[in-house]
Amino acid sequence: MKAFNAIALGLALCSPWAAAQADFPDRPITLIVPFPAGGPTDIVGRVAAAKAGEILGQQVVVENRTGASGTIGMAATARAKPDGYTIGLATVSTHGTAPHLFPKLAYDPVRDFTPISNLVTSPNILAVNPSHPARDLAGFVAHVRANPGKEGYANAGAGGVNDLGMIWFLQLIDGKMNSISYRGSAPALTDTVAGVVPVIFDNFPSTLPYVKSGHLRALAITGTARNARLPDLPTFAEQGYKDYDVTAWYGVVAPAGVPDAVRDKLAAAFAQAVRDPATAAKMEETGAFPLGNTPQEFARQIETERDRWKVVIDKAGIKLQ
Ligand code: GLU
Repeated sequence: MKAFNAIALGLALCSPWAAAQADFPDRPITLIVPFPAGGPTDIVGRVAAAKAGEILGQQVVVENRTGASGTIGMAATARAKPDGYTIGLATVSTHGTAPHLFPKLAYDPVRDFTPISNLVTSPNILAVNPSHPARDLAGFVAHVRANPGKEGYANAGAGGVNDLGMIWFLQLIDGKMNSISYRGSAPALTDTVAGVVPVIFDNFPSTLPYVKSGHLRALAITGTARNARLPDLPTFAEQGYKDYDVTAWYGVVAPAGVPDAVRDKLAAAFAQAVRDPATAAKMEETGAFPLGNTPQEFARQIETERDRWKVVIDKAGIKLQ
């Protein structure tokens, strides 16, 4: 029996599969970012990928596979070979909101993935083109109520966190606006800055530079506290919307079935990457908060987020138009 175990162990250690795990990674890794370049997912993904690549000794190459609120890139991630060489950057949209709103979603947010590490969280922000009459949130609410259905708001994808965040807020204020969905924050911002759409609800990191440069006027930020990057901007809670909170996050996932050793190596590298002082400082400059949790913590978080958004969506009766 002992001899048999020894042979089995020897075979396991010598098998190409075990050898591949021990050498992982011996070639570049592809990180699928499911939103366009210049948006928050892309910003976080590129900063983290550069440092994680250094730590792993292999480049982590970002590939933007965009569309359908990030679900196209996530479907591609789920279908990839589970060897750790193709991973994806999941968001609250791809794993929290979209699963309840896309009846033909090509993946299950829990069953089809191996969670690696949730890298970063970020608040969301409501901002308007400077030509908009609203100077603050109270003015915005009054304007929307006085003009039902007349204005649109730009967002990073139908059924994603920015679309849903705004739909939820409009329900709270009993307002009506038209959802103008883009492939991601970057094109949504371009049109809001140009005045094509007067309002945007976005993840904080991508909108922040435009607020700082005066191309957009910020009215409120989500979360329990103000953000150090825009300390004068009040939260929704401060302005009377206590139970309204929408947080974005960006976390690395792999297809289901990735070996534990590969998963743990990736998780350790990405967590170390976002905690590295220079990388963390870059993330914090965008107003986001570096996290870098474990696969187990991230797995629980994905389930919690999926369930949390189901309650919000069901309670509010939110359906895609
Ligand atoms: N708002 C999207 C999300 O958090 C990200 C949009 C983008 O990166 O362009 O899922």
